[in-house]
Amino acid sequence: MSSSRDAQALVQRVFASLAPPDATLCWRDDVTAVVTVGAEQEGFSIDLEDRPEDLKFKAADRLQSIIIEATRSMVPICPLHPGQHPLSSGVVNGAAIWRCPKTGTSISEVN
Ligand SMILES: [Zn+2]
Repeated sequence: MSSSRDAQALVQRVFASLAPPDATLCWRDDVTAVVTVGAEQEGFSIDLEDRPEDLKFKAADRLQSIIIEATRSMVPICPLHPGQHPLSSGVVNGAAIWRCPKTGTSISEVN
C-alpha cells in the first residue's frame, strides 16, 4: 500500500460499514484519522507500509472500539449470538475478516 489516498479510501469504507449516520471521519494529515461520534472525538494513525489486509484489520479494530465506546452498542452484530457480543476482526489467509469471538467462525470480509 503506497498511496495515502488509497489507504484513506480503504479506511473510509470500513468506517462507513460500522459508523452510525451522525459519525464523521476526517484526516488531520495523510496518516491521522479523526473520528467524531456525538460528543466523542478520537484520532488514530495508519501505517502506509501495511499490507491492505493489515490496514483494514487495524482500522476495523480501532474504529470498532471508538464506535462501541461512543454509542455503547455492539457493532458489528454477531449473527450467531445477537445481543451477546460484537464480531471481532482478524486476518485469515491474507484477508481481513469479521469472526465470532466465541466460536471463531468467519462471518464476512471486512469491507
Ligand atoms: Zn458469536
